[in-house]
Amino acid sequence: MIHALISDVHANLEALQAVMAELGDVDDIWFLGDVVGYGPDPEGCLDEVFKSCSRTIAGNHDLGVAGVIGLGRFRYAAAVACRYSARMLPDEAKDRIEALPLTLELDDGVTLTHGSLVDPIWEYVISAGIADLSFEMADFELLFVGHSHFPAVFVKEGEAPCALLAFEEDKPIELGDKGKGDEDEKGIANCTRFIVNPGAVGQPRDGDPRAAYAIFDDDARTITLRRVEYPIGETQRKMADAMLPGSLAERLSYGL
Ligand code: ZN
Repeated sequence: MIHALISDVHANLEALQAVMAELGDVDDIWFLGDVVGYGPDPEGCLDEVFKSCSRTIAGNHDLGVAGVIGLGRFRYAAAVACRYSARMLPDEAKDRIEALPLTLELDDGVTLTHGSLVDPIWEYVISAGIADLSFEMADFELLFVGHSHFPAVFVKEGEAPCALLAFEEDKPIELGDKGKGDEDEKGIANCTRFIVNPGAVGQPRDGDPRAAYAIFDDDARTITLRRVEYPIGETQRKMADAMLPGSLAERLSYGL
C-alpha cells in the first residue's frame, strides 16, 4: 500500500489543496496533527482533513483551539491565531477535534503522533538525542511525527545512538526489511527503526516555502519527501483580511 503523510496544515487551504492535487495514486492519507492555527481557513482545512484522511491525530494547536489545553504555552502570535481559529469553527468541529487521539498505534509496528512519544503534544524531535528518548519508549519500527515543521528522518540500528539522515526531495529513503519479530531482552524489535517527519504542509520552517509531505510505500519499503508550490500570496492576502499577525503571513514567503 502507498500512504501519504501530511502534517501541520495550519489552516492554509491553498497549501492543502495543492498537496491534495499532487498526491496522485495513494491508498490512504495519514494526518499527523495541527490542522488549525496560524492560517486563515480553519474550517475548510478541517473539513478536507476529516473527509480525506483515514488516520488523524491531534496536535497542540488543534487542542488549543478546541479548548482542551490552555493557550499559555503558545507564543503571542500563535495564541492570537488560535483564538481566530476558535472563533471561526462551529462547536461540532471543536467536539470532533476533542475526540481525536494523541497517538495511534497501527499494524506492522507503525505509530503516529504529533510531537513525540515522550510528549505527544509539545516535544519537538529535532535532534538525535531527543529522538533516542522516543526510540527507547516503545518498540515501534516506524514512528511518524510532525510538530517541528522540519522534514527529518532518524534511523536507529540496535542499541547504538540514532542518526539523522539527509531527507531530500524526491530521493527515497530505503527502510530495509521489516522486523523479523526477534526481540531482545528489552522487547525492542531486532530491526532498523525510523522516526520520520514529513515536514509541514501549511507553514514549512526548513527554508523552503513550498508545502511538504511524504509518501510511505510499505511494499517497496521506501519513504520519499515531496514538495509542492502553492499560491502563497493568496494565503497571505486572506491572512491580512482576517487581521492575523503580519509576522505569520510574512514567514510563509521564506519557509521559516
Ligand atoms: Zn504545527
